[in-house]
Amino acid sequence: MSYKSDIEIAREAKKKPIQEIGAKLGIDAEHLLPYGRDKAKVSQEFIESLKDREDGKLILVTAINPTPAGEGKTTTTVGLGDGLNRIGKKAAICLREASLGPCFGMKGGAAGGGYAQVVPMEDMNLHFTGDFHAITSAHNLLAAMIDNHIYWGNELGIDERRVTWRRVVDMNDRALRDIVTSLGGVANGFPRQTGFDITVASEVMAILCLATDLKDLQKRLGDIIVAYRRDRSPIYCRDLKADGAMTVLLKDAMQPNLVQTLENNPAFVHGGPFANIAHGCNSVTATKTALKLADYVVTEAGFGADLGAEKFMDIKCRKAGLAPDVVVLVATVRAMKMNGGVAKADLDKENVAAVADGCPNLTRHIANLKLFGVPVVVAINHFVTDTDAEIQVIKDSAAAQGAEAIVCRHWELGSEGTVELATRVAELADAKVAQFAPLYGDDMGLFEKIETIAKRIYHADEVLADKKIRDQLRAWEAAGYGHLPICMAKTQYSFSTDPNLRGAPTGHSVPIREVRLSAGAGFVVVICGEIMTMPGLPRHPAAETIGLNDLGYIEGLF
Ligand code: ADP
Ligand code: MG
Repeated sequence: MSYKSDIEIAREAKKKPIQEIGAKLGIDAEHLLPYGRDKAKVSQEFIESLKDREDGKLILVTAINPTPAGEGKTTTTVGLGDGLNRIGKKAAICLREASLGPCFGMKGGAAGGGYAQVVPMEDMNLHFTGDFHAITSAHNLLAAMIDNHIYWGNELGIDERRVTWRRVVDMNDRALRDIVTSLGGVANGFPRQTGFDITVASEVMAILCLATDLKDLQKRLGDIIVAYRRDRSPIYCRDLKADGAMTVLLKDAMQPNLVQTLENNPAFVHGGPFANIAHGCNSVTATKTALKLADYVVTEAGFGADLGAEKFMDIKCRKAGLAPDVVVLVATVRAMKMNGGVAKADLDKENVAAVADGCPNLTRHIANLKLFGVPVVVAINHFVTDTDAEIQVIKDSAAAQGAEAIVCRHWELGSEGTVELATRVAELADAKVAQFAPLYGDDMGLFEKIETIAKRIYHADEVLADKKIRDQLRAWEAAGYGHLPICMAKTQYSFSTDPNLRGAPTGHSVPIREVRLSAGAGFVVVICGEIMTMPGLPRHPAAETIGLNDLGYIEGLF
């Protein structure tokens, strides 16, 4: 049997005008700012008018440690949202926007897959409503103002060697990682070494996603540390008076985007911070708006639960005052097999023993998630090659850890494939059994917070940090940043910092290579291992085969 590609399915979608989708949530057409026929932003005034309404239930979709076999968090988020609507619930989903850069590198979109997709998927993966362009512009305005300040006499005393604010572009372009600017003589300023990151790695992106309104946005932008003086004292964005103009550039981008699923249910797609040096979830504004308008909101966090869910809880929920009611942990037979040591080429063959060998990864994630006080349901995202015996192993492992595992066939069948999951998730949410609490308190020391995450979530024995790093953390505590949460940046493939250590490793240590302060976003980034903030393209980028066909349709993107 052959299956249609994601884009073929998406093209057949019977999309409704975006006003009809808005109407499902009670948004009047006047409060929708349409971008074409099938996308719209929800107006700031309307969002403010919702303040006193009660919130719906919040459901987080996360996953086991990712493998190249693919787990399908986005696909399951869409499938569950459609499933909830199918059983008569008023549900909306919240997803991240996609970065342009990776689209031209490896094939694969960010809008779900099969019969659980968000449309228009081409737009979502390309320019969409221009939010990322606005973020790029705001980020680079600040960069330009820094160099301009130095050029005109450097009144603030910026140490040109200690400018931490780089430039961004939404493209995978390794040639820009490390560059020298201001070459060419006196009129062009003072040459200095700097570089570009991809837009999703910008602190402006993280700020846009955590800000609660435009005032909060401007305050956080002002708080960004852009450089240091010779005496190591920080220089803030506010000192350069860039925060006002940046807020103006971001005004429209702050409003969440509304689109629809293949089954015409509402989907908010807004913001897309990196999941390593940032927190990797859609915007607080989108989640909060969705909670005011729907009874159930399903949202996704990037990477596996050790990174994505932990940051969702400890950064996003803590900061925004959100509390998840249920967590859905996505697992696949294929990924369990890979965690059990099977090579990607052999995944299609039944291998019950390998599934069992991989299950400790699943059960550890279940146990970890319970630390946050939220009930966990495992969603087995069904692939057509899965066998009953393999699925049973996952169900039994989950049950041994006190969690139910439910098979979902949304990729193949749409909402019909998630009725059981949706019913169970709604029951759990309605039962209000969750007693959410972040993993650590604000008052704990920064190093102790890192240790808490490493020991309780990664099951590591120790955190390794040299004196320089410990001194830096103490200096930030003294400067008033000690209450901030931690944003861990480590490999997504393992609980440990070694990507090859699959399953549920113990006895490992977590070496810290570097710490960075994102004072505007409001977290301390702890980097363990190589973290790439400007990806490159592969030898044969997808861009080589992307083009328009005779009908004007995009080919080769997915
Ligand atoms: P994640 O959000 O975890 O990165 P996605 O939901 O984006 O994963 O899915 C990754 C890819 O896997 C997509 O191309 C999607 O079409 C595919 N996929 C997801 N679930 C299934 C499934 N059950 N069967 C086949 N392909 C799937
Ligand atoms: Mg995803």
